[in-house]
Amino acid sequence: MSKNYDYSELKQSVLFIAKKAFDEGLMAGTSGNMSIFCREQQTIVITPSSYDYRIMEEKDIVVINMDGTIVEGHLNPSSEWRMHAEIYREVERVNAIVHTHSPYATSFAVVHKEIPVILIEMLPFLNGSIEVSPYAMPGSAEVGRNAVPILKRKNACLMANHGVVAAGESIDRAYLAAVYTEDTAKIYHMALSVGTPVELSYQEP
Ligand code: 13P
Ligand code: ZN
Repeated sequence: MSKNYDYSELKQSVLFIAKKAFDEGLMAGTSGNMSIFCREQQTIVITPSSYDYRIMEEKDIVVINMDGTIVEGHLNPSSEWRMHAEIYREVERVNAIVHTHSPYATSFAVVHKEIPVILIEMLPFLNGSIEVSPYAMPGSAEVGRNAVPILKRKNACLMANHGVVAAGESIDRAYLAAVYTEDTAKIYHMALSVGTPVELSYQEP
């Protein structure tokens, strides 16, 4: 079904965002992963597992089916491919996922603390507060299943004791959601250290 499809543009988009996220400090070492869902082919274009972002090239991006079988690529797909597949299966508007371990956001994930709406940017980019999904073993489908109820309403969430998963209609939108999640967490952290943050009044979706 997916034979002969030209994935080079999608691979380049995944590679570009992966390097940008790494350069911006959203991931340390080889942590994090990102993908684009090719809905018509039912394939996922995803970063390889445990691979240095600085030397990553287009040929290193992996294409898999929804059951994890490799369609194109010479490296293993991200160990979180089940999380990506679960979210694509369950949340129809989502065509791209950016998963990071960005430090400020992950520190709130570690203490299981939701970040309330404190900045106006949180409305267009995140669709409200940043909630925490329950912990699941990294690499399991449960990681995705636990995030799905939140991602049906929000563009990003914190995954308990793990990191951030951001999702969007495009990889640019998913990336922006990951960036605003980290920026919000950083500002909230600083606000907590100088006083009591005041929440914006806002009706949750
Ligand atoms: P991969 O290198 O396999 O994508 O794993 C990184 C990660 O963030 C695991 O949760
Ligand atoms: Zn991770």
